[in-house]
Amino acid sequence: MKRIIFGLVLFASLGLAQGARILIVTDLEGVGGVNDPDEQLLPGQRRYLESRKILTGEVNAAVDGAVAAGASEIVVWDGHDGSRTLSIDEIHSPARLLQGRPTPANYYLSDRLYDGVIFIGQHAKAGAKDAVLAHTQSFAVRRLTINGKEVGELGQVAAIAGQFGIPVIMLSGDRAACAEMLELQPRAVTVEVKRLAGRGSTVSLSHEQATRLILDGAIKAVRSAGTYSPWKIQGPVEMTIEYFPQPPQQPTARIVSYKGATVLEAYEAWLGKL
Ligand SMILES: [Zn+2]
Repeated sequence: MKRIIFGLVLFASLGLAQGARILIVTDLEGVGGVNDPDEQLLPGQRRYLESRKILTGEVNAAVDGAVAAGASEIVVWDGHDGSRTLSIDEIHSPARLLQGRPTPANYYLSDRLYDGVIFIGQHAKAGAKDAVLAHTQSFAVRRLTINGKEVGELGQVAAIAGQFGIPVIMLSGDRAACAEMLELQPRAVTVEVKRLAGRGSTVSLSHEQATRLILDGAIKAVRSAGTYSPWKIQGPVEMTIEYFPQPPQQPTARIVSYKGATVLEAYEAWLGKL
């Protein structure tokens, strides 16, 4: 009870009529300890279950932090491997889990549906420097741009969320993903759980320390969710995707582009072609 009263006072001071509504967007490549695409990313691989367990722990740390900061609603969107990685028997209450493929972006993101987005387990964009498992949707993509600006998966989500007036308030992932986030949303709370340590090596925090930092970060971000500004891209929007050459069938880089009045329209034009 004490916490509820404290919470009400807090929301009033931050301009939210109720506790913050939070969307947690998850991926696997950016969680602590994961660096091997052949052993740690997909069902059936030797260390997949360990990766999944680490992701679940990091997600729950964010859920617990959001709860501690008085969030009124928490939805976790399962973003890795076609949205079929997490399990409801392991996600902490009161978060709900959104899964399934394809989940249209305008189902989980619509006008001011949330007060903030939190990324957990996020990786950097294709071609990012000193990044762990960097890619944009697939490892076949060399670069993706929105109105000429190079972005990765986190930039696409930030742009679509921004179209709906929703800011990104926090990200946990590798050092390069944190830097990429800060470039788009300079006030976002970032938690670096690992970084590249040369070629294919990474150095990661212990899971215990990573989850403690994520918990603290989520408390801080969710408490001030009402004070962030969304990243807005003015339309019309052109999204361009350049693929790596694949000789002999595709000796030069294939480039495709999709247009729309908004980011979401351009994004859906692309997804409709996949
Ligand atoms: Zn993934």
